[in-house]
Amino acid sequence: MDCPFSIWTTLQNTAEGDLPQELNLPAVGQKWTLVYVPDHRPQALTQRQPSMRFDESDGESRIRIFHRPDAPPTLAQVSALLEEYLRERARYHFHGLVREVADSTGLPLPDKIRIGMQRSRWGSLSTRRVLSLSARLLFLPPGLVRHIVIHELCHFEQMNHKPAFHRCVARYDPAAEANRAALRNAVKMLPDWCRM
Ligand SMILES: [Zn+2]
Repeated sequence: MDCPFSIWTTLQNTAEGDLPQELNLPAVGQKWTLVYVPDHRPQALTQRQPSMRFDESDGESRIRIFHRPDAPPTLAQVSALLEEYLRERARYHFHGLVREVADSTGLPLPDKIRIGMQRSRWGSLSTRRVLSLSARLLFLPPGLVRHIVIHELCHFEQMNHKPAFHRCVARYDPAAEANRAALRNAVKMLPDWCRM
């Protein structure tokens, strides 16, 4: 089912060199500060790609990105690292959320959940009962993510966007109207590097 909430209105350009300074994931209540660290160990000179490490000491959440001292990381390299983390975080979080929404609404569970970095859609449900969700949903507030999951699971009842379908969504999401409106501008909640 092609759902109407497309992520991309226009393609945005981010200047190379504007490395992200934080990773803010409202969907899971996480906020990381990114720190770029030249790695002066001899073995670092043989590494082509930067690597990242998570550090939650001193009550601060930091992601340290280690790179060769003679080669600052490119935006593409940093994006690739962060996307890898987003997929992993989304896989973990969205599986639990979909199960919780299915349990609390009585709507069916999909046979399979696929997490991607889709740039075209937040989510979709196939006739083969595969639910696809974009890891970019992590940048949205929990209420909007939940709305999208309810929307997709309601497609088990109605494989269309007719009035009966919207009644299903409204039954399980009292803020359905407001959330639907908020989704039209949700692309603005994505950080620049993630819109490219
Ligand atoms: Zn839909």
